[in-house]
Amino acid sequence: MHIERPRDLAEALAGFDSHPRATPLAGGTDLMVEVNLSHLRPETVVALRRVSELQTWDDRFVGAGVTYARLQAGPFPALAELARTVGSPQIRAAGTLGGNLGTASPAGDALPFLAALDAEVVVASHGGERTLRWDAFLVGPKRTALRPGELIVGVRLPDHIPARQAFGKVGVRQAMVIATVNCCVVRDEEGATRVAMGAVGPTVLRARAAEQLVSSTSRPSPSMLEEFQRLVSDEVVPITDHRATERYRRHAAGVLARRTLERCLAP
Ligand SMILES: Cc1cc2nc3c(=O)[nH]c(=O)nc-3n(C[C@H](O)[C@H](O)[C@H](O)COP(=O)(O)OP(=O)(O)OC[C@H]3O[C@@H](n4cnc5c(N)ncnc54)[C@H](O)[C@@H]3O)c2cc1C
Repeated sequence: MHIERPRDLAEALAGFDSHPRATPLAGGTDLMVEVNLSHLRPETVVALRRVSELQTWDDRFVGAGVTYARLQAGPFPALAELARTVGSPQIRAAGTLGGNLGTASPAGDALPFLAALDAEVVVASHGGERTLRWDAFLVGPKRTALRPGELIVGVRLPDHIPARQAFGKVGVRQAMVIATVNCCVVRDEEGATRVAMGAVGPTVLRARAAEQLVSSTSRPSPSMLEEFQRLVSDEVVPITDHRATERYRRHAAGVLARRTLERCLAP
């Protein structure tokens, strides 16, 4: 395996000129599992850890190379919360936001946060930069809109980020587990609420009818919360797999979304 070790974005993109089929490598916590299981044999790998532009982080932009260990200590409560649930300290030290997007697992824990905020994914190639909203970037299970020779540079967040935000995850145990269902809820001062659900569809999805219901009031009543839970359960499109049945996931999605919303509503 040939390994390129660029130090900046221009060098990293140039790596694709000489090796058009090169595979980007960030923390390797997904990629190296595939290599170790012999599912993947990349001829050339572009190792991104030294690429300074991907490490950038300000209040509206998170670089693709930012690790969960760094996100844990960041200013966004739901992002910090989800980062704390990922893998183990070793995985959090190596695994990155860009890698979670690159893998595009329906259960990726960072993805509901990005969907709830309508974040944009910034990608670059030698030809220039383009920006795709999360739902244009994540096009299917483990499928993205990334073109050959493109790298994820980072994620652009909206100008207004609601202070009330929470992340929830259901798995077979508390740690070192891929989500059976995950969820992010954000709610602004006017009550406008966004609900993103993961592991219950081909990609992360928004529960739009449930959002609409609770966005119309400053204090949802108990019966409205019941209805919210029912709507979320109706809107998700889970499958049965080795982790859970379709029926369990549908039920868990409603309960998890409601509990996560209740945390956002707490005084
Ligand atoms: C033990 C263990 C526990 C885990 N627990 C969780 C968990 O709780 N929640 C969770 O969501 N995930 C979990 N994962 C999966 C993994 O840690 C995450 O998906 C992580 O975000 C991957 O990031 P990475 O930097 O390691 O990506 P890598 O493995 O380096 O790359 C993943 C994919 O993204 C591509 N890629 C990486 N960076 C870029 C870029 N800048 N531009 C274009 N493509 C890029 C790579 O080519 C590859 O296809 C776990 C993995 C392990 C091994």
